[in-house]
Amino acid sequence: MKAQVLKKIAPIERQPLELMEVPIPQPRRNDILVKVSACGVCHTELDEIEGRLQPKFPVIPGHQVVGVVVGLGAGATRFKIGDRVGIAWIYSACGKCHFCKEGNENLCSEFQGTGCQADGGYAEYTVVSERFAYPIPGRFTDVQAAPLLCAGAIGFRDLCLSGIKPGQILGLFGFGASAHIVIQIAKYQGYQVFVFTRGEEHRRLAKDLGADWTGDLKDKPPQKVNCAVDFTPMGETIPTALSILEKGGRLVIAVIRKRNPVPPMDYAQLLWDEKEIKSVANITRKDIEDFLPLAAKIPIVPEVQKFGLEQANEALLLLKQVKIQGAAVLKIQ
Ligand SMILES: [Zn+2]
Ligand SMILES: [Zn+2]
Repeated sequence: MKAQVLKKIAPIERQPLELMEVPIPQPRRNDILVKVSACGVCHTELDEIEGRLQPKFPVIPGHQVVGVVVGLGAGATRFKIGDRVGIAWIYSACGKCHFCKEGNENLCSEFQGTGCQADGGYAEYTVVSERFAYPIPGRFTDVQAAPLLCAGAIGFRDLCLSGIKPGQILGLFGFGASAHIVIQIAKYQGYQVFVFTRGEEHRRLAKDLGADWTGDLKDKPPQKVNCAVDFTPMGETIPTALSILEKGGRLVIAVIRKRNPVPPMDYAQLLWDEKEIKSVANITRKDIEDFLPLAAKIPIVPEVQKFGLEQANEALLLLKQVKIQGAAVLKIQ
């Protein structure tokens, strides 16, 4: 099969993913073999490629995978051949530790990320345990469904963790794949949403999706926000977001790694008044299982920019340059 393979860390400008011919993976006992039709492109892949996260080497990246079940391990009974499934960032967790037992499998020490510690979906086929695959609601095409699996589902987790309450204002910093889905959930749930982003095109999309105010990252909004989610790779967004956060408000940081350090912050000016900062780590199966039916009910309409499997380096470079409108998705076969 064809797959995009990462063998070592390098800046994405050097096109480090190699399109190669590799053997089709074999399903182990409880695995399903999935013929991939679409795989979303995520900022976390840039973190792996450029060395801010440690993947196994070589690795096939990609953790927003949509495809059809074409093979079953001897003990796999949850899906049938021909079922459409999605695979997300959570590839496995131990299921036995106290984090797993309390429903926090995202914090499990043995957590494995799809396309990071295990091969993912930048390929024609992939395998995953049947317990870590999800039926995809019928109203979404494969390409539309792909960004729901990380950008959407983790965005949903971010919004839940923000603790926002009716009548409050949500601030979104950065307006890429995840934020453009989060705004659709937030508007459906009746919140006011202020969007802070550098890109004029991104501000236009935010307006189209119902943003009540849009501005540049450093612009002052008409009111402070009660909760904020920071999707940007820049450390300096954290003090910027805290400066327009209302007393008692919470800032959720939705990225695994920042590209540059968080600058020193003045405690009295930015953090006092019972403000909170919470990071988001990974995702649980329940987040995805809760989100997919909600996405179909709203319904979320993902804005998608399509690329071929052979264009993975190009898609990731455009993502780094903040030139993707909505979500980038590789259409495979
Ligand atoms: Zn992701
Ligand atoms: Zn565990």
